[in-house]
Amino acid sequence: MKTWIPDQRSFAYLSWKQVDALPRDSTLLVLPTAAIEQHGHHLPLATDTLINNLLLGRAIEKLPADLPVYALPPVHYGKSNEHLGFPGTLSVSASTFMAVLRDLGASVARSGFRKLVLYNTHGGNTSLIDVMARDLRAEFNLRTFALHGSGGISFDGLSAQERAYGFHAGEVETSFLLAAVPELVDRSSYSVNYIADVSKAELLLPENAPATFAWLTRDMAPSGVLGDPRPATAEKGERWLEQAATRLAAALEAMANYSHPQKA
Ligand SMILES: [Zn+2]
Repeated sequence: MKTWIPDQRSFAYLSWKQVDALPRDSTLLVLPTAAIEQHGHHLPLATDTLINNLLLGRAIEKLPADLPVYALPPVHYGKSNEHLGFPGTLSVSASTFMAVLRDLGASVARSGFRKLVLYNTHGGNTSLIDVMARDLRAEFNLRTFALHGSGGISFDGLSAQERAYGFHAGEVETSFLLAAVPELVDRSSYSVNYIADVSKAELLLPENAPATFAWLTRDMAPSGVLGDPRPATAEKGERWLEQAATRLAAALEAMANYSHPQKA
């Protein structure tokens, strides 16, 4: 898999003696979590994993050189059962995903480290990340943090419809890949599907609402796309990438400098 993580920030490139020499209390380890799943006809299965690595790599490059932050190798497989039925989707169950995070958290704690960030770029993992951040805090006394997606940037220029319902393989993800790995984007096979219409005030919505319905991609998007990739450009991707990396770097720096109000 391609990587944008600088070699000197890659935890797995260290020897155990080099790890042993790291400051245990202050070192911030970042565990990326993503997915291998269908992303329509035009994007690769590894889209969420590539975006994770790209954003994290760019963010880490912005950190002060003396801040001890290292990226762990990513958990490539996520809970992707919303995309089952599309060949190539490789999903793990919620219990498997959580067990992997628990075991890795235990290993991090056993190595003497105290600070762990779960950095997730696949929506199907989000609720599990929140559960595990707290469980790892409680069980191993780790100072755990959750970091999601693009760090909350506003995605200037995105339509209201795409902003609300561009969930998957739409303008944002396609723009990121056009900026970083255009050779992996098939621009001749875009398709458009929306799960709901932002101009219609529905009571039941797919996400981010008090009343939701559980959805599977195959119920509503035969191509696997939930959104509209057609307005995507490399220029937008580069702009959003830079904005996201800046926000993510600020969050990582805050996490590295964070201490609990009461002694942990
Ligand atoms: Zn995705």
